[in-house]
Amino acid sequence: MASVLVTGGTRGIGAGIVESLVSHGFSVGYCGRKKSSESDARAAALEAEHHVRVRAYGCDISDAASRTALLSAFEQDFGTPDILVNNAGVAPTVRADLLEMGEESFERLIRTNLQGPFFLTQAVAKRMLANPSTGAAVFRCIINIGSVSADYASINRGEYCLSKAGVAMATKLWAVRLADAHIPVYELRPGVIRSDMTAVVTEKYDKLIADGLTLQRRWGTPADIGRAVAMLATGSLAYSTGEVIHVDGGLSVLRF
Ligand code: NDP
Repeated sequence: MASVLVTGGTRGIGAGIVESLVSHGFSVGYCGRKKSSESDARAAALEAEHHVRVRAYGCDISDAASRTALLSAFEQDFGTPDILVNNAGVAPTVRADLLEMGEESFERLIRTNLQGPFFLTQAVAKRMLANPSTGAAVFRCIINIGSVSADYASINRGEYCLSKAGVAMATKLWAVRLADAHIPVYELRPGVIRSDMTAVVTEKYDKLIADGLTLQRRWGTPADIGRAVAMLATGSLAYSTGEVIHVDGGLSVLRF
């Protein structure tokens, strides 16, 4: 079965993605910023439950040397990744108005949410091109976890919106570059998903959702995103590339 590298698989949406993929029979390597006994234990538990190979790594996605080490470790365990899921991401630690946002936060968000995934994709793509998939049965693709914030302008976290707008373009760029190698590239665009990232704004979104922000009046869950990733990873959308797949409960449907 194909092997998948998932960044930021330790919790939240990434954990949902890892669970969904292993339940579909994929071998999975995932990372958080640090390797920990907890993530090793979780990998072992998933392995025992689903009878697939699962490994946990430590990697700071914003750091080039750390990305190189991640790929080397993954390759030792699994060989060339068949699928890359760029999920790791951060929100600003302080939601500051555009007039107050600091360059440090801007740089942190761009490095983590855009630059890291972009260059990890570059490194994985080079390996995929150098090691073409042997079996026709092995479907390869790259999945970027974007955000509705690529389209929606939030002036108290502009750096996040900018980073995700960049991910949207990176998806198109890689889709064009890798099309002839039969490697589709997708952007999966979540709406409001329950995780540590959104825990700080629970009350705000409880109210917005009750008031109709999303057509489907509930929070999204990591499992919702996991199921959508599995759909892409299993090749159900093989004749699409450079596409945005919204998983947002209808949040982005334009209405009067
Ligand atoms: P969480 O904060 O809950 O989890 C973030 C994950 O990313 C953790 O596994 C964390 O690992 C990892 N991570 C953070 N920084 C780094 C880094 N520098 N290097 C490697 N791993 C890192 O966030 P979510 O699960 O909510 O978000 C996941 C993705 O989904 C992000 O890209 C986010 O922008 C996107 N998204 C989220 C939405 C939401 O409503 N929650 C909506 C739209 C998009 P650890 O802490 O173990 O180091």
